[in-house]
Amino acid sequence: MIVKPRIRGFICTTAHPLGCAAHVDQQIDYVTEHSEASSGAFQNVLVLGCSGGYGLASRIVAGFGCGAATLGVSFEKAPTQSKTASAGWYNNKAFEARAMQQGLYAKTLDGDAFSDAMREQVLETIKADLGQIDLVVYSLASPVRQHPKTEVLHRSSIKPLGEVLEIKTVHVEKGEVSNVALEPATEQEIADTVTVMGGEDWQYWIDALLAADLLAPKAKTVAYTYIGSELTWPIYWEGTLGKAKADLDRASGEIQQKLQSIGGDARVAVLKAIVSQASAAIPVVPLYAALLFQVMKEQGSHEECIEHIDRLFVSQLLTGTSMRLDDSGRIRVDDLELAEPVQAEVKRRWPLVDTENLPQLGDLAGFRADFLKIFGFGIDGVDYDADVDPQRIS
Ligand code: NAD
Repeated sequence: MIVKPRIRGFICTTAHPLGCAAHVDQQIDYVTEHSEASSGAFQNVLVLGCSGGYGLASRIVAGFGCGAATLGVSFEKAPTQSKTASAGWYNNKAFEARAMQQGLYAKTLDGDAFSDAMREQVLETIKADLGQIDLVVYSLASPVRQHPKTEVLHRSSIKPLGEVLEIKTVHVEKGEVSNVALEPATEQEIADTVTVMGGEDWQYWIDALLAADLLAPKAKTVAYTYIGSELTWPIYWEGTLGKAKADLDRASGEIQQKLQSIGGDARVAVLKAIVSQASAAIPVVPLYAALLFQVMKEQGSHEECIEHIDRLFVSQLLTGTSMRLDDSGRIRVDDLELAEPVQAEVKRRWPLVDTENLPQLGDLAGFRADFLKIFGFGIDGVDYDADVDPQRIS
């Protein structure tokens, strides 16, 4: 079949098998050529949410930078003869194929990471194949979670708190800048968002690994968060998602205590805004990101997802590095995004930006290109007019 992007709102319902594989290759090549991660720094790494965005980048740095065996968990859709898989499914296959060529262990378990059944499967796989894990990366981003104890299905909301929020946003496909009025979340919506995106599930994972003695001495775990700029606080950090992320901070402290028994370490790492399946769905963020990317590119400080995670590993996670921690004990690698010259310029442009001047003030084209790349489109060297088998990545 000839695979073209089919965009519906915030998602693309098709993914290009060869494009996704080429996108993974590009990221692996970046790490192979540029990473200063030391080989052997981590032996066995578990990545929860391994198939895209920051989780995939973490798996690539762990595998191809540190030479680690990686076990990944994700929730992706397999292809059929007439339908493409989800992008993450192709990404996993591509990662596994490259890892195998390199002699690196890589196994991916596809299913619901929130379920006890998946936890059990992961524990069994570690026992059988790896022994113990020395780094757990928690990079799940999901709109729903079926609670493993109650079986209740919780849905997260992306809403402000308290009152209606009137704020600027952009329609990514049309490029139209407008004001939207976002209704505040109810107490139930806040609680549900915390249940889905908060820290409880991360705790369940670490509890299960500890109880089964599957964490190596001095094992580390890191979960990812976003804080961002005052411009997005009303919808993010001060909204439902921020509440969930505050709960991740709570969990980090509790996990840290528990890991003392093995001399381990638990941290939340604050990352920069990138385009991912998860972030494209957040109102306001695409407009902010378009301005941010333009300013960071102009000032020479823009980082792609893989560069950012490589910097996290090399400067913060490897043994011997001195971590850049904030008052709450979080690792900060959002320093380039939040640098004063960057934020001052983004804030200057924010009130000025409109539909007409967005192409000058912001990098919406870059945002769109990054969005398409997530689904394997717009990657150099891929023939998008060629007939491809949706069940093969080569
Ligand atoms: P993403 O959408 O690219 O990836 C999410 C991953 O979670 C995928 O591998 C997906 O398969 C997996 N997943 C979702 N539900 C699952 C389930 N039930 N079971 C198993 N796997 C499941 O997301 P991302 O943007 O890389 O976000 C990862 C983390 O990084 C999140 O905590 C997010 O808040 C954080 N973060 C993102 C940004 C950003 O700008 N995108 C910035 C800072 C921090």
